[in-house]
Amino acid sequence: MNTSNNRFQAAILIVSETASKDPSTDKGVPALQDVFAQKGGEKWTCSQTKIVPDSVLDIQRAISEWTDGGDAVNLVLTSGGTGFTQKDNTPEAVQPLIQKHASGLVHAMLAASLQVTPFAMMARPVAGVRNKTLIITLPGSPKGARENLEAILPQLAHACQQAAGADSRALHSGGTQRLEKEAGLQDTSEHGHHHHPHDHSHGHNHSHGHGHHHGPKAHTKPEDRPPISNDPDAGPTRRYRESPYPILTVEEALQQIGQHTPEPTIVKAPVDENLVGSVLAEDVTATESVPAFRASIVDGYAIIASKHIMVPSTKGIFPVVGVSHAKPGQMSELQIGEVARITTGAPLPPGATSVVMVEDTVLKSMTEDGQEENEIEVLTDAIEPGENVREVGSDVKSGDVIMKKGEGITAVGGEFGLLASVGTREVSVYQRPIVGVLSTGDEIVQHDRPGELQLGEVRDTNRPTLLTAIRGSGFQAVDLGIASDKPGALEQTLRDAMRTVDVIITSGGVSMGELDLLKPTIERSLGGTIHFGRVSMKPGKPTTFATVPFKSNDGSRARPRVIFSLPGNPASAVVTYHLFVLPALHKIAGVHPVGLPKVQVVLEQDVKCDSKRAEYHRVMVVAKSDGLLHAVSTGFQRSSRIGSFKGANALLCLPVKEGKVAKGERIEALLMGKIISEV
Ligand code: AMP
Ligand code: MG
Repeated sequence: MNTSNNRFQAAILIVSETASKDPSTDKGVPALQDVFAQKGGEKWTCSQTKIVPDSVLDIQRAISEWTDGGDAVNLVLTSGGTGFTQKDNTPEAVQPLIQKHASGLVHAMLAASLQVTPFAMMARPVAGVRNKTLIITLPGSPKGARENLEAILPQLAHACQQAAGADSRALHSGGTQRLEKEAGLQDTSEHGHHHHPHDHSHGHNHSHGHGHHHGPKAHTKPEDRPPISNDPDAGPTRRYRESPYPILTVEEALQQIGQHTPEPTIVKAPVDENLVGSVLAEDVTATESVPAFRASIVDGYAIIASKHIMVPSTKGIFPVVGVSHAKPGQMSELQIGEVARITTGAPLPPGATSVVMVEDTVLKSMTEDGQEENEIEVLTDAIEPGENVREVGSDVKSGDVIMKKGEGITAVGGEFGLLASVGTREVSVYQRPIVGVLSTGDEIVQHDRPGELQLGEVRDTNRPTLLTAIRGSGFQAVDLGIASDKPGALEQTLRDAMRTVDVIITSGGVSMGELDLLKPTIERSLGGTIHFGRVSMKPGKPTTFATVPFKSNDGSRARPRVIFSLPGNPASAVVTYHLFVLPALHKIAGVHPVGLPKVQVVLEQDVKCDSKRAEYHRVMVVAKSDGLLHAVSTGFQRSSRIGSFKGANALLCLPVKEGKVAKGERIEALLMGKIISEV
């Protein structure tokens, strides 16, 4: 066995048509050599390399030269030819050479790659031992090859040692712990399971080469294929060329939002003006009656009226024995034949049955000092018992359920008033989300920055607009500022924000540009899940919805954080706020039904439809004298044109079709603002 300098010998075989013609184009060898140098712990030398075209014979010849002689190497790595195209046949070439299959290594590589990209399911690696050499096929992209090698490198020395024929009992003395330590895996708590021989499932291996493949299909040869990664540090050659996120319909997207937005949590809230916009999480029972005392409905005179034969008629002259103003105080009992002056809302004196209104009386005499009424005459005998009196509890009875769970406290005032009237001091409500708003982009400047813009600068339109829209929807909004397009900046801003807000709205950075960091940051840095990254709609196609697990230190607001990454174009950002963010805010706040109300409108002009995507066209909805709602377009609808929102109070829901919806036709619209009425 060839182990010069006590190092393991590795050989690298690049399988590539292009590189075999022009070796200067190869990037695989340097990438893999770099992994050994950086992460190999000085255990490896890899001086032997070769480049062959996609030919089974060439591949087999090259490998067997390294495995079949007296000076066989310890490890052969191939890179390339593991894809699905007709030319990809490295696994087919290597397979017959292998005497002992190493499905565990295959599994480890696939598992590692799948953490990085779903495209990994289209890799077909093989690994195993021939004679005393371990052979492993790596993907053709330098990035993929590197990631796969890194995933297994810590175990390779041990594997090669075994393949070379070392006594396995000697190797294992000290157990897996020692092996892991040697492999540089001191922290075994997280990784330990992966290295336990019993955890390996050989069955998994079989499903990788065939079966159903989700996600976009590759149209390119593996060696030409950009090494796919959403790693923000990856250079231009490693970027996605096409979004890997499936495109959802608006309905599917809303369904995902409904499913993954956290359930409402219940808190106690004082009954004060901050309650407006909240939804009750429990029924409210009145603990007091309204009115709490028998109260007069009019200004007049409290009197004793009765059908009883012993009680004289209310008609006649009565002494005025007292005054009851609408203010608290003690009053003496009214006797038959007496009246007491009373004002609206004031309590009846004890003994009084009714109130005769002042219009039905005349003043008869004044007191001697001329300051007060002495006697009045009641002009009618038709006063009934209880007349002009609001009885105790006739508005609300103590013990009545005055509001139900799920009912909201509106800004109209009625619900708040009802709670106030019975002295409810605290209620159970759903905790309303706090929403943070972040703009992204190095070109974005404060909207009110004085002075002219430099070339390329754009005033921040989205952040002020969204903050206003959120507050207008009744939610608390927090300004998170502008994040630059540098990866670290975005991650730190999002992490900080998650501590104080429940929902983060970002705008920009979700297109396919190299600076569009949101998706990778959410997935890779924050460990979040992107539930959708594209929606079939216009505007708003790149709208992204994700959740990120979150544990707070003190247990408050401990629920997953919701992130909406809206497109950068201002009109798109506002449309998608109303369409997607609002339903999530409603769900968290317990508001039902969620989202904007839908109404039927009559079109005032022809409106063109999109043949592929559902379009949300900004309109002004006006209530006209015909009793119908009419919709007028706000004009040019390009997604960058926030002016298409000026005056808009609704989004027309245009169907997907060729052609148009014609003037006079009825169509659905989502109401964002107040309906205007025609004067
Ligand atoms: P992006 O998705 O980041 O490439 O943004 C798409 C377009 O929207 C670009 O023209 C951006 O300059 C623009 N944009 C992004 N964010 C904002 C913002 N906050 N205000 C105004 N325009 C923006
Ligand atoms: Mg941007």
